[in-house]
Amino acid sequence: LPQLHHLYNHPTPPLLLPQRPRRWAHMATGHTSAVPRRKDKLLVIMGATGAGKSRLSLDLATRFPFFEIVNSDKIQLYRGLDITTNKLPLPERLGVPHHLLGEFDPRDGDFTPADFRAVAGQVVSGITNRRKVPMLVGGSNSFIHAMVADRFEPGCNVFEPGSDASLSAELRYNCCFLWVDVSMAVLTEYLSKRVDEMLDSGMFEELAEFCDPDCQDKQDPAAVPTGLRKAIGVPEFTRYFKKYPQSKRDEDDDRERREAYEEAVRAIKDNTCQLAKRQIGKILRLRGGGWDLRRLDATDAFRAVVATTSSDSDGGERWSDIWERQVVGPSVKIVKRFLEE
Ligand code: ATP
Repeated sequence: LPQLHHLYNHPTPPLLLPQRPRRWAHMATGHTSAVPRRKDKLLVIMGATGAGKSRLSLDLATRFPFFEIVNSDKIQLYRGLDITTNKLPLPERLGVPHHLLGEFDPRDGDFTPADFRAVAGQVVSGITNRRKVPMLVGGSNSFIHAMVADRFEPGCNVFEPGSDASLSAELRYNCCFLWVDVSMAVLTEYLSKRVDEMLDSGMFEELAEFCDPDCQDKQDPAAVPTGLRKAIGVPEFTRYFKKYPQSKRDEDDDRERREAYEEAVRAIKDNTCQLAKRQIGKILRLRGGGWDLRRLDATDAFRAVVATTSSDSDGGERWSDIWERQVVGPSVKIVKRFLEE
């Protein structure tokens, strides 16, 4: 086990119960008791949506069993829409502790980067206090920046267009950044396939319950889960269900209904790819701003994943072997060196 993390005693953090984000905002300014006296280690796994961050985090956490995972996907913070938001199901977490994954009530409103800095700071302190090592995993780069920046101005999102807040190259943790990258052409193909798989796993039915005006309790405005409103899939299918609520099935409009469904699926695929492009843009900005990101190229592994369903896939190397060799192996070396530093 790495020895350096735990030379210091931190005050025990308060019991962390899911709270309204606003309650945490006051803790986000300057250096709070959640900030370690000497820099604790924090492994950060970054990458676009679908690039394999969760997979890599589990591969590392099963090899180094003292890691605990802290989610940094702003939508996965909330309870609900587990298929649509692609939350790792409990059995697939392989017993690795996951924090801030589906812990918050979406009716309590949107988390800000400042809220995340406060809440995730507390969780990370708790993990280091227990002599474990935190691993931050997720695609919300504004949250990652807010979490690890040494200086942070609440209310500022460094990635917002027109924001004059500057990126912080000074970090409040001793960070090791792994960036799982996949070429955009291959990732686009993979993301389209992933959306189809999510639909097969029940995404449509989940969204029907969430978006269909017939299924919601319209009497209670507090029942509208604001935090999840922006999740990709919700706006696209809200438009669909407005026109074609589940209760009004009319044989006559089946063809149009089908077209509207396909339009919604197309929009989800496009918006997911746009999200991936924006995320990569933000990662490149962080790297340009001085963050030492170690890039792992997962393109070949994803090319193999995409090929497995097409007819010409015979004879190719298994994607998991390529992933192991090109992504996990190099990551393990980097992490070992980081822990021994
Ligand atoms: P920004 O501050 O510009 O919103 P960010 O880096 O903070 O970006 P992202 O993770 O890029 O946050 O999320 C931006 C948007 O992408 C979300 O508002 C949501 O629409 C969509 N999104 C992100 N994660 C998910 C997810 N797991 N499921 C569905 N949609 C998601």
